[in-house]
Amino acid sequence: MIPYGRQDIDANDIEAVVAVLRSDFLTQGPCVPAFEERVARYCGVDHAVAVNSATSALHIAYRALGLGPGDRLWTSPVTFAATANAALYCGADVDFVDIDPVTCNMSVQALRAKLVSAAAQGTLPRIVAPVHLSGLSAEMDQIGSLSREFGFRVVEDASHAIGGSYRGRPVGTCDFSDITVFSFHPVKIITTGEGGMAMTRDPHLAEAMRLLRSHGITRDPALFEGPNEGPWFYQQLDLGYNYRLTDICAALGVSQMDRLDAFVAARAALADRYDALFAEHCLVLPGRRPDTRSAHHLYVARLPANLHQHHRAIFEGLRVAGVGVNLHYMPIYRHPFYRRLRADWPSLPAAEDYYRSAISLPMFATLTLAEQDFVAETLLALLERHRQGG
Ligand SMILES: *Cc1c(COP(=O)(O)O)cnc(C)c1O
Repeated sequence: MIPYGRQDIDANDIEAVVAVLRSDFLTQGPCVPAFEERVARYCGVDHAVAVNSATSALHIAYRALGLGPGDRLWTSPVTFAATANAALYCGADVDFVDIDPVTCNMSVQALRAKLVSAAAQGTLPRIVAPVHLSGLSAEMDQIGSLSREFGFRVVEDASHAIGGSYRGRPVGTCDFSDITVFSFHPVKIITTGEGGMAMTRDPHLAEAMRLLRSHGITRDPALFEGPNEGPWFYQQLDLGYNYRLTDICAALGVSQMDRLDAFVAARAALADRYDALFAEHCLVLPGRRPDTRSAHHLYVARLPANLHQHHRAIFEGLRVAGVGVNLHYMPIYRHPFYRRLRADWPSLPAAEDYYRSAISLPMFATLTLAEQDFVAETLLALLERHRQGG
């Protein structure tokens, strides 16, 4: 089976991890700050807080922005459940903004309309969390203007998007947001096994997230409430978690950063090639924008409306042929857990249309051209068969 995603670990990565195993520190050593520094420099942002997953990063980002019971967080329905789950961890309520049918990111028009009606009802969100689906940045400048107009904070879920750029600046630079979160799960652009990072320009948010990452405990005398009682002394200032990244993982992250641009370039070349292979056919190809460079985490082809009824059969046909396709993602409000939270979620038409049509094709830096040709030929043959009613 050709998987839809796969990590690429080379000899340097292995050496970097082995060096940590031979060293004094397996966790809380020098590699975590080195990894933070490396990603911060890449993004051109002052602060980076490494944690053990993007889910943890989202949780401490939302907490640092004060999200709690009685608050609302809005995100896209077409994302991994963690974007919304992390708000529920904070005791907040979640709601969804429909997607743009071209980019499949949160629709700015839908967001504006929902904000206007929420403002009238006094139900504005504390945080809006756009997701850079497939690696293509959401329309951050417009979301940033809306955040100033309506007074909400912005967390970018950039789990798919490290190495991408928006208006000539790297995703993660936080030009239009408070915090940007990356994931280093093995299917993502670079990996630490498990891992995530929260980027911010705001030193206070960075400080709050560092505390929350490690139990809410500090050893920094500058932060103590009351006197420093001695060299043993530390204080818990907030209710935090153990979300620390290990030095083993961080060493892998530093090493993977050496190849980030090469990984994204390889993915971009594959995306261009898929576009060319499908150009004369009926598929709806991933949206592009001239001011935005995708990190190409996913390549999602969508079926035209006349083939929606064959979505499942085409999907199964690909799997049977050995093409490991996936669907990123079913709208979150369709999950049983979310249905139990609220029975009457409005069905969002663009998200529903996406769910009826989307197929994530294999996309990873080491996908060979022969494998890619096989994927394309298999898909095109299935389209042909189903168009003829077979
Ligand atoms: C992978 C992913 C996450 C969660 O990342 P982990 O590092 O596995 O916790 C969150 N949001 C999106 C959009 C993702 O793709």
